[in-house]
Amino acid sequence: MAEVSAAIDSRREGSFGSLGSAFMTRLPAAPLPSPYVVGFSKDAAAMLGFAPSVADDPAFADYFAGNPTPDWPQPSLPYASVYSGHQFGVWAGQLGDGRALGLGEVDHAGMRYELQLKGAGLTPYSRMGDGRAVLRSSIREYLCSEAMHHLGIPTTRALAVIGSDQPVRREEIETAAVVTRVSTSFVRFGHFEHFYSQDRVDDLRTLADHVIDRFYPQCREQDDPYLALLGEAVRTTADLMVDWQAVGFCHGVMNTDNMSILGLTIDYGPFGFIDGFDANHICNHSDSQGRYSYRRQPQVGYWNLFCLAQALLPLLGAQYGEAKRNERAIEDAQRVLEGFKARFAPGLEARTRAKLGLELERDGDDQLVNALFEVMHKNRADFTLTFRHLAKLSKHDASGDAPARDLFLDRAAFDAWANDYRRRLSEEPRDDAARAVAMNRINPRFVLRNHLAETAIRHAREKDFTELERLAAVLRHPFDEQPEHDAYAGLPPDWASSLEVSCSS
Ligand code: AMP
Ligand code: MG
Repeated sequence: MAEVSAAIDSRREGSFGSLGSAFMTRLPAAPLPSPYVVGFSKDAAAMLGFAPSVADDPAFADYFAGNPTPDWPQPSLPYASVYSGHQFGVWAGQLGDGRALGLGEVDHAGMRYELQLKGAGLTPYSRMGDGRAVLRSSIREYLCSEAMHHLGIPTTRALAVIGSDQPVRREEIETAAVVTRVSTSFVRFGHFEHFYSQDRVDDLRTLADHVIDRFYPQCREQDDPYLALLGEAVRTTADLMVDWQAVGFCHGVMNTDNMSILGLTIDYGPFGFIDGFDANHICNHSDSQGRYSYRRQPQVGYWNLFCLAQALLPLLGAQYGEAKRNERAIEDAQRVLEGFKARFAPGLEARTRAKLGLELERDGDDQLVNALFEVMHKNRADFTLTFRHLAKLSKHDASGDAPARDLFLDRAAFDAWANDYRRRLSEEPRDDAARAVAMNRINPRFVLRNHLAETAIRHAREKDFTELERLAAVLRHPFDEQPEHDAYAGLPPDWASSLEVSCSS
């Protein structure tokens, strides 16, 4: 099984690891005593070309805990990358991988993936932190990043969670764990902000060239490749905001250091899926002002893109010559940033229409949508189940209304909306059955609700990982009915209302 470690190259040409010491510090992981496998994603393993049996190798837990493994030699040291960022709207200066180490890249089936150990010990960027991650947050990241992938939402992946009994101090004493994250890139907006803030234009260019060459080679054909790169970030971020809003996902900490240059969902912390709909839902208990509430996420994405644009400015407009460069570059960047609105709003509109099973575009559709969100908000109707149950509504009569209707305390308000929806459906060419099939492909039945993660965590703390595995398996097919797993699709139990997630992880 040593082929796993042999496949991981931390200095491959063109990889982030090849960029050099201006971008990272190389150091070994801190050993973690008696590690054991908590979770393992066979899908992520297959993506990397690893056999499903790799996790059975006794060296697996050690290797992905960051421990020295004579049987699985590590060809070169892993690295912690340096970045900066805006946290909660304020410039925070230098941050960096305070507890993550890049192992290097795996090349499989024409794709290259970077592997990273999150929670692998202190780095030069740990600041006040201890370099560790706790089992609770590691399981949440593992479950959610795999669940997001199966929802079709761009995200980093998770190969495994490795646990240890080593105590870690948070509000309470918890235990340490390491998540093996997998991504085509872990470059964040904050990486660019870092070199901009230090006036290191050559390093900034090296970083931008790396991202362009690896991910957006088509940018090279544009007059200004770096402006084109900004355009790609605008496009992918706008699309990601559509994806998040459409499934009721709240990230919780949309700081610029948690924004992927590729528009991937990254850094799972106090995230949450909305249960009872509240447009102002704040999933992060530490976010007292609601800066990162559900409703504000797209605006924040846009704000973060401004920070990225600012950081790219020194590279922009070279084609205009020195005298004109500054002024024209700012105009260009502003124009490209405007593209966010042109992409996000119609994107979410189209997605919401699809969620309602509407193929045609009609005047008044936006009122119908707004009215639905309003009545959902007033009734705190369950986000996921409302859309899922709307597929059962008939365009002819109220015979299929009950499952959705029962989610609304104010039945009359629901009925009024349902009648408008029915009238609108009567204009649609599709019959009910075909519409239901299409809606069930876009409205998941299963999302990672906090209480589901919490149950899996409680079992895992007792070293029983079967619940975690079962839940991960359910979330692998979020759009399937899976009637045998009804319990995972239900409303949260009463005890779930006391669950709080915060930045503490
Ligand atoms: P986050 O809000 O989790 O994305 O983290 C913000 C910054 O704090 C990043 O630079 C992290 O690497 C760092 N950080 C978070 N938790 C820890 C920890 N326990 N030890 C060291 N650094 C941490
Ligand atoms: Mg982060």
